Amino acid sequence: MGLVERGEVTAAELHEAYLAAIEARDGELNCYLRTLEEPNGSGIPIALKDVISTRGVETTAGSRILAGYVPVFDATVAERCRAAGLSVLGKTNTDEFAMGSSTENSAYGPSRNPWDPERVPGGSGGGSAAAVSAGLAPWALGSDTGGSIKQPSALCGNVGLRPTYGSVSRYGVVAFASSLDQIGPVARNVRDCALLYGIIAGRDECDSTTVELPEPVRLPEREDLKGVRIGVPREMNEAEGIEPGVAEAVARAIELARELGAEVGECELPRSVEYGLACYYLVAPAEASSNLARYDGVRYGARVAADRFSEMVERTRDAGFGDEPKRRIMLGTYALSAGYYDAFYGQAQKVRTVIAREHAAAFERFDVLVSATSPTVAFRLGERSANPLAMYLSDLLTIPSCMAGLPGLNVPCGLSEGLPVGLQLIGPQFSENRLFEVGHALERALGFDVVPERLR
Ligand code: GLN
Repeated sequence: MGLVERGEVTAAELHEAYLAAIEARDGELNCYLRTLEEPNGSGIPIALKDVISTRGVETTAGSRILAGYVPVFDATVAERCRAAGLSVLGKTNTDEFAMGSSTENSAYGPSRNPWDPERVPGGSGGGSAAAVSAGLAPWALGSDTGGSIKQPSALCGNVGLRPTYGSVSRYGVVAFASSLDQIGPVARNVRDCALLYGIIAGRDECDSTTVELPEPVRLPEREDLKGVRIGVPREMNEAEGIEPGVAEAVARAIELARELGAEVGECELPRSVEYGLACYYLVAPAEASSNLARYDGVRYGARVAADRFSEMVERTRDAGFGDEPKRRIMLGTYALSAGYYDAFYGQAQKVRTVIAREHAAAFERFDVLVSATSPTVAFRLGERSANPLAMYLSDLLTIPSCMAGLPGLNVPCGLSEGLPVGLQLIGPQFSENRLFEVGHALERALGFDVVPERLR
């Protein structure tokens, strides 16, 4: 970035250099659904997940039903990127409507992990994460409902922030589950991540759930952790299915935090971990079933013609949606139906309150909670795609704090089987500055902010 500031490289040259890299490598990785050939800003290039509306540029959310949909406006986050001079490189691949943990649910084929192209980059924002780690974008935006920024960042070895609910505008973002969706940055290191968060965050008139940040975003400086109280939730670190190599890397990072001066102690989140996933798979599909009702062949994208209106809608939805959105529309519609509303949706909302309270209690004693982001390193393509439950378990550790509306930062913390392991840092609402400080200190001490040899 210094190169552009000092005028040694122009924004146009940078845009073109990234396009050349994409040209060379993206045939294999499939990070981008489409690229923008012309430089369109005076600064650093950026990639945007394809759930973010871009004026004049097709936006599909990884779905056939939105094929050919060209928004007539920019999402607020896209507009803020443009206002900051960022040049949009292209739109990145995602599981259809951001539903998934591997990008294998994309209607446009999966993306691949640059660390090992036989493996998934995580999801749903696998396109953005893989692009950043392969050097096909210096940074990117993703969206996170239950882990779609944090988990792919973990699997690709990037820094990714899921911001506090309400700190970044969702205006112009293709909705999945509105009470959970948040847009956030994916970058190579914590400082870049903080810089990009500063560009997109804050109150937006067009999204009434947003607020002004209580303090400006600060780029992290400190390299020690003196006085920081770090809580290790027992259930998250002993959860079934955590690979030994992942557990070891996380334990080493916690030890390092202690050496840097942090006070480390154990805490409990029993109900959040036990019920988080089940609760999420009622709330998220319920909201999705309502949000996806708008795709009717009239308002957006694709249409399958028929003689009668109802038949046209039916055929369009049948042909346009893939299996995962259909599964969730059915689940959600069922959970919201008159006889079952209280037993399922109503009950899930109560559990959600319990999860929020459990986190609040932990933050009375600790500044930051840490765990693995993903229980495993990047898995092989096809390994979980036939089994939705196995796929859902990928987000066991990322979902609870999302349900509580809390920010979470993924910071790479080492390798297992030669693949990146991610550390999840969770803080109270609007504690992003603190997460950046802790993440930055750990990243410096671990030396993971340098591009590894094999990815150069
Ligand atoms: N993998 C989770 C799901 O499929 C989370 C996705 C997301 O955060 N968008 O719903």
